[in-house]
Amino acid sequence: MNTHSPALENLPADNQLSSTNQTTPPTQTSDFTYDADATGNFGTYGGSYLPDFLVAPIAEVAAAYEEARNDPAFLSQYRELLQTYVGRPTLLYQAENLTEYVRSQTKTGHGARIFLKREDLNHSGAHKINHCLGEALLAKRMGKRKLIAETGAGQHGVALATAAALLGLECEIHMGRIDVEKQHANVMRMKLLGAQVVIVDAGGKSLKEAVDSAFAKYAENYHEMFFAIGSVVGPHPYPTMVRDFQKIIGEEARQQHLKMENRLPDAIVACVGGGSNAMGLFNAFLADPVDIYGVEPAGKGLETKEHAATLTLGTDGVLHGMRTLVLQDGDEPAAVHSIASGLDYPGVGPQHAHLAAAGRVNYASVTDAETLTAFQDLCRLEGIIPALESAHAIAFGMKLAASLEKTQTIIVNLSGRGDKDVEYVGQVLGI
Ligand SMILES: *Cc1c(COP(=O)(O)O)cnc(C)c1O
Repeated sequence: MNTHSPALENLPADNQLSSTNQTTPPTQTSDFTYDADATGNFGTYGGSYLPDFLVAPIAEVAAAYEEARNDPAFLSQYRELLQTYVGRPTLLYQAENLTEYVRSQTKTGHGARIFLKREDLNHSGAHKINHCLGEALLAKRMGKRKLIAETGAGQHGVALATAAALLGLECEIHMGRIDVEKQHANVMRMKLLGAQVVIVDAGGKSLKEAVDSAFAKYAENYHEMFFAIGSVVGPHPYPTMVRDFQKIIGEEARQQHLKMENRLPDAIVACVGGGSNAMGLFNAFLADPVDIYGVEPAGKGLETKEHAATLTLGTDGVLHGMRTLVLQDGDEPAAVHSIASGLDYPGVGPQHAHLAAAGRVNYASVTDAETLTAFQDLCRLEGIIPALESAHAIAFGMKLAASLEKTQTIIVNLSGRGDKDVEYVGQVLGI
């Protein structure tokens, strides 16, 4: 395995990650939460940039969510489902074997203790069920009959179909033909869960076309449909709403770490595709003196075009109804790549773009090759098969831990389990 790919040069060197380089929140501002204003602007990012035909449907969602988020009955219904159906709280697990391994790889033998936030233990195997249940509950509250969404890797589709089944809603998932072929097992899951899968053959037959197809269908039928977005992306209110449904991750992790260690962690780490599991973990820590790292896919290397490191190399643009950082090829969103199909997105949630601009969160990237190594490390050392998305966070977390002292701790978000990836990884490794 090539562990010295040129992309690594874009990561902070170990000695630059030391605790002397703390990213503390600014003390001059009251904006400790780095939250959006009433119209969904996170600084210069976010907002709502929509074609006319989507303005009314999305405004209806924004108004309904504004009511729901202030309704204790709605919130307690949501929290109860997380407990009784999803299985929350998820564990904060101290990964001693992984920690010892990292220490054994350093010259000095030091290295922070690594804790894993076990979102892989959620029902349906990842964090996505948290926001899918929230969106499904909101849809019911609005009197909608059907959930509609696009899916790339199929994970959002499966989580949404799960929520729809539980709450007695219909579910229609649009998916590009290429993704349907790559993610056959997820297509079967969605169908078994009662969803209708619409195969999209336009253009590149992938996520971008699936988004367009699903939005077009929604605009015609929004009186009976709710559009469920799969990450902290899209027009207002979705980046705020999906973050709110995910922030339970960080609330639990912060409390669990305080209880176990009597103090806050020194750093927290999560992978960033659209950014929902990361915002979910980060939100509770934004006002704390805790270093925060988002990890993007460097794919085959940042010097190639085959990556999806939006926060590292993107430029300002408008995508999917939001102003954010975008990897662009001329006027078009670039064709991006990651070994983890859930991270394969040319944009990113606007709150991440804001947190990067404000200097509150550090964004790094790891390559496909580093991800595969970390994937295997976690399997062998801890008996945990991570999602390839989550293995990005593990890879960076191991590097970060190696740069810290034995007395320090870090939390890495294990956003999902890797059952969906074992076939592919087995092929790549030739086992
Ligand atoms: C979808 C997915 C991701 C990426 O989505 P975010 O919105 O960036 O969290 C990460 N991990 C897993 C397991 C996923 O399924």
